[in-house]
Amino acid sequence: MRAMILESARKPLRLDENKALPQPGKRQVQIRICACGVCRTDLHVVDGELMQPKLPLVPGHEIVGIVTVLGEKVANIRLGDRVGVPWLGWTCGKCAYCKSGRENLCAGARFTGYQIDGGYAEYTVADERFCFPIPAGFTDVEAAPLLCAGLIGYRALRLAGDAPRLGLYGFGAAAHIAIQVARYRGQRVYAFTKPADTAGQAFARELGAVWASGSDALPPEPLDAALIFAPAGELVPAALRATAKGGTVVCAGIHMTDIPSFPYNILWEERVVRSVANLTRSDGDEFLAIAAKIPVRTTTSPFPLSDANEALKQLRDGTIKGAAVLVP
Ligand SMILES: [Zn+2]
Ligand SMILES: [Zn+2]
Repeated sequence: MRAMILESARKPLRLDENKALPQPGKRQVQIRICACGVCRTDLHVVDGELMQPKLPLVPGHEIVGIVTVLGEKVANIRLGDRVGVPWLGWTCGKCAYCKSGRENLCAGARFTGYQIDGGYAEYTVADERFCFPIPAGFTDVEAAPLLCAGLIGYRALRLAGDAPRLGLYGFGAAAHIAIQVARYRGQRVYAFTKPADTAGQAFARELGAVWASGSDALPPEPLDAALIFAPAGELVPAALRATAKGGTVVCAGIHMTDIPSFPYNILWEERVVRSVANLTRSDGDEFLAIAAKIPVRTTTSPFPLSDANEALKQLRDGTIKGAAVLVP
């Protein structure tokens, strides 16, 4: 098969035209990949900001494909099923986190496109217990960004609580889905982009933001919660300043630059800063059901598999509208 391989951090991915097909082990399925989203986390892996990838590695954790081979003991998936494979690839099922509904924090967790080969390829294998059925209303390309951008955004929204006035910092793949869920829930959305990114602000307004501006601006009214999707630590004090008493600021990315020090009075009055890590399978089940019901419409920029480096570059430069998706 063809696959894009990360051999060492901070080097472009290499196209391997003749990689052996991965064979499914116990409880795994082999999947012919139809689409794989390009997530900012992939960029952090390729750029060496996340330190423990297996090498060489096939990145990619927003996989949509068709099941082509069943491994031993596969019980709940059939040949020909269309499935999605997310970032959470395996958990131990035995630790205190796994047993208390917090498998996203399992110390033994393994992640797709990081410790397990992922979806920048024509085929992959995945544990059937961590695959989701993809609702029929989505094409393969439309569905791919739901699997991380959508899912992590949903978890961040959920953990931000009931927030009538919601701020979204960074208006890329995750925010363009989160805004649709937030509006469906009746929240008023304020979008913040890089100050010069007027195209991003226009995109946010198109999707129903009541206000959009640079992240250096204060919104016309204080926020009840803010989700930060951009990996820039200086957005934490900026979001706190925009947030009302008792409000919550959620850092939704896996990596962020250092947060500058800030005066206690912008945290005072029960404001909360928290992060969101990974996902649980129940987040995925809930989110895919609600995404189909709304229905969420994803904006995508498809690239051929062999152009993965170009897709990553455009994501780094901030020039992609919505989500980049590789199509093998
Ligand atoms: Zn565990
Ligand atoms: Zn991701």
